Amino acid sequence: YERVTVIGGGLAGSECACQLADRGVAVRLFEMRPSQMSPAHHTDHLAELVCSNSFKSTRPDSAAGLLKQELRSMGSVLMSCADRAAVPAGGALAVDRGQFSQEVEAEVESRPLIEVVREEAVDIPSGPVVIAAGPLCSPSLSQRVLSLVGGDALSFFDAAAPIVDASTLDMDVLFTQSRYGEEGTGDYLNAPLNREEYEAFIEALISAERVVLKDFERKDLFQACQPAEEVARTGIDAIRFGAMKPVGLTDPRTGKRPWAAVQLRAENADHSAYNLVGFQTNLTFGEQKRVFRMIPGLENAEFFRYGVMHRNTFVDSPHVLDRSFCVPGTSVRLAGQITGTEGYAEAVASGLLAALNTYADLAGLPRVELPRTSAFGSLVAYATDPATQGYQPMHVNFGIIPPLEDGKRRSKRDRYAAYAERATRDLSVYIKNRGDLFC
Ligand code: FAD
Repeated sequence: YERVTVIGGGLAGSECACQLADRGVAVRLFEMRPSQMSPAHHTDHLAELVCSNSFKSTRPDSAAGLLKQELRSMGSVLMSCADRAAVPAGGALAVDRGQFSQEVEAEVESRPLIEVVREEAVDIPSGPVVIAAGPLCSPSLSQRVLSLVGGDALSFFDAAAPIVDASTLDMDVLFTQSRYGEEGTGDYLNAPLNREEYEAFIEALISAERVVLKDFERKDLFQACQPAEEVARTGIDAIRFGAMKPVGLTDPRTGKRPWAAVQLRAENADHSAYNLVGFQTNLTFGEQKRVFRMIPGLENAEFFRYGVMHRNTFVDSPHVLDRSFCVPGTSVRLAGQITGTEGYAEAVASGLLAALNTYADLAGLPRVELPRTSAFGSLVAYATDPATQGYQPMHVNFGIIPPLEDGKRRSKRDRYAAYAERATRDLSVYIKNRGDLFC
């Protein structure tokens, strides 16, 4: 096979290189550290975990646990490194980060088909390429990626609002209505607030604890987009004339316009998840839960994703990549956080997928079509659905998994267990049927 260039020896790039080598494909793996460090990495090791040492929950009935199970069933090399480097952490897979990197480096070194080049890739070479340069992709390569995907399809910051589980919302309080529009479509839910509720909410929002930004983020992050709490800080009514404006809304229970309203927009056609419109935020996750549960109707809300605002390099995948994360008309694939999938296990998954699809192209095999019901398949579908507008990075969660077909009412725990059972069954059938890809 033609040699593949993989750019970035992080989580996605290391997984991708190992998987390609295991299928007989030679790889040149570029890693710019230590000659050029990113603002967040501290070592010259491959697959350095830059922040937390946790790969999140191990529970099979959690989306994060399910994804890790799926990765193991697909033979992920980095998941086995993580399992070997695990340290006790209750219900989570936490690792000794030094040992994890050593395990990954040993895996890479044990494959003679991988040549590690310790240089910054400043260009995109010809031939098959996987760009896995991460959220802190070097500036010169970022410019190349920008030229490749065109226009304004590369972002340098995340500004994501929280997403809540629709089944945990109080529909006796919320009402469905789009601004000036029809009632009852379910695309928008509205949480009405009276003056007292609004003022208490704003007070909590502006006094809540926020994430301390890293130095390299602080400089220009908020030029791109203001967090809701910053807007609220500029005056008691500031947000009531912005994200919480009640204009065009009539609460059907009172027949009146509320003092203020939080709008929730459906995240998917199934209306199983909603985002809080305009509430990109930098509050800590614990504070988001406390403060946003003050919104009438959200008292028991469960969060599929908390809001985040941080430095991140990612492309508008749904509009510039095909379903195999390839830039159409080229032999360049993107993998890892630069595709807008967020999190350690998600980066590993994305590297694995890039390897399988690149190998499929080289070997003349059909590309990968993961079952939509699997956690991994749902993440791919979310990141590549052209219907997505305002794409924001996403970690795996049950809000992006299609609802269960039987429509039975279940407790949240039973529902999640049923998702996991369905995913495991469908993915194992797929793996069995693709003996050409999975040895
Ligand atoms: P990375 O693991 O970052 O790997 C990319 C690699 O490419 C790096 O080694 C980099 O040096 C190299 N590189 C970049 N440009 C070039 C170039 N031109 N040539 C050669 N090499 C290049 N996720 C979590 O799940 N938990 C967390 O706690 C967490 N904390 C984070 C904190 C920060 C500050 C950031 C920025 C991200 C954090 N993330 C976290 C997200 C996390 O980065 C990803 O989940 C994951 O590391 C992404 O994997 P990746 O392989 O895409 O990128």
